[in-house]
Amino acid sequence: MNFADSEVVASIMAEVGIETTNDEMEADIIFINTCSIRDNAEQKIRHRLKHLRHNKKHKKELTIGVLGCMAERLKKQLLEEEKLVDIVAGPDAYKELPILLREVESGHKAINVMLSLEETYAEIQPTRLNSNGVTAFISITRGCDNMCSFCVVPFTRGRERSRNPESIVAEAKDLVSKGYKEVTLLGQNVDSYLWYGGGARKDFDKLTIEEKENSISFANLLEMVAKVDPLLRVRFSTSHPKDIHDEVLYVMKKYDNVAKHIHFPAQSGSTRILEKMNRTYTREWYNMKYARIKEVLPQCGVSCDIITGFCSETEEDHKDTLDLMRKCEFEFSYMYFYSERPGTLAARKFEDDIPEEIKKRRLTEVIEVQHEVSRRLNAAQVGKIHRVLIEMQSKKNTDEWMGRNEQNIKVIFPKDHYTMGDYVDVRIERSTTTSLIGVGIS
Ligand code: SAH
Ligand code: SF4
Repeated sequence: MNFADSEVVASIMAEVGIETTNDEMEADIIFINTCSIRDNAEQKIRHRLKHLRHNKKHKKELTIGVLGCMAERLKKQLLEEEKLVDIVAGPDAYKELPILLREVESGHKAINVMLSLEETYAEIQPTRLNSNGVTAFISITRGCDNMCSFCVVPFTRGRERSRNPESIVAEAKDLVSKGYKEVTLLGQNVDSYLWYGGGARKDFDKLTIEEKENSISFANLLEMVAKVDPLLRVRFSTSHPKDIHDEVLYVMKKYDNVAKHIHFPAQSGSTRILEKMNRTYTREWYNMKYARIKEVLPQCGVSCDIITGFCSETEEDHKDTLDLMRKCEFEFSYMYFYSERPGTLAARKFEDDIPEEIKKRRLTEVIEVQHEVSRRLNAAQVGKIHRVLIEMQSKKNTDEWMGRNEQNIKVIFPKDHYTMGDYVDVRIERSTTTSLIGVGIS
């Protein structure tokens, strides 16, 4: 999401004649787009800022801006703590950046951390940064209206808003015309995407019947994007277990170009912990939705996010998570140990009472189970044929391509006569925990 936002910022800068560079030392302005999701994400930024002192020594007039969630969370405090920083801009303030830059030029520090109920940057055509020319992100919603107790996102990114579907389709069409082959529709909770007439904000209960009938749901939007071009592969992320609808699964089934993969974070396998996390579903509900995905789309890959050591988590709760992971067999998972975030519901209401070594030990166990499952699922693909979209040269071998299959697993194969952006049918010959290795046959 930050990557997509940085592309919006680059576009806003281009409008006022400021170009991007890949050479840090050449830059007159450095913006760091930040994440607050876990403490270590913020620590990385602090390190980065220390390192930038060196740049500033070389170039006195260098302007440094901190953008995104950390800017929003710390606000003025960031200017006080990090003397180096000239600009602090929250996720909804990027259109103000040219004004903030002017303030800095006139010798002041500048800050805008206003959150918006409307801003979706719908009309801004993102400037693609470090692009492979094949895959791109499209933001479809901003913010989040859920209140998972561990999560800082609702505080740093504000209320949920949906972006005008026409602007989303136009962006997809523009990408196709430039040769892109895959788009990923992005939102914290894509299933709650809703557009009616002129409004970005959602309050479904207050709509008239006509407005309800004319509204565009995520399933409708996904279909609109799938229809842009049958050769454009469409992905989306993230699906919230409480909100995923059958209609979305039916659209996935109907369109070959919608990749059969759902990122479907459980966070925990224990109903007690899920309740404390305020995820608003139980283990049984999660299993039921998972079974429904596999029933409608037997080939669909499912991936997951897991947090270990959330407040009060017992060994029993942890075992429930391991058990869920063994039963659901996720293709891959993003796994973390719980990091308390100031201001969140959990920080205010619960004690962060699991010692770090236990959080980490449970994380290791969760990772081990996931690796075991991934190895097994990948090994079962040997001999099968997968449709792969070539994304880049393999990092390990310049004679090989790296692409992804529909389930979002990396596939490596010899370059042969294929080129970037080709769809290739690859016969899988070997596998590892994280990738499939094969040979193109189309
Ligand atoms: N909207 C997505 C999540 C976005 S945040 C969803 O609801 O699934 C990405 C992931 O970071 C979360 O799924 C969660 O696993 C992890 N995460 C969020 N807050 C965290 C915290 N305080 N400590 C550890 N991991 C966290
Ligand atoms: Fe955070 Fe929950 Fe919203 Fe995801 S759905 S961004 S975890 S509050």
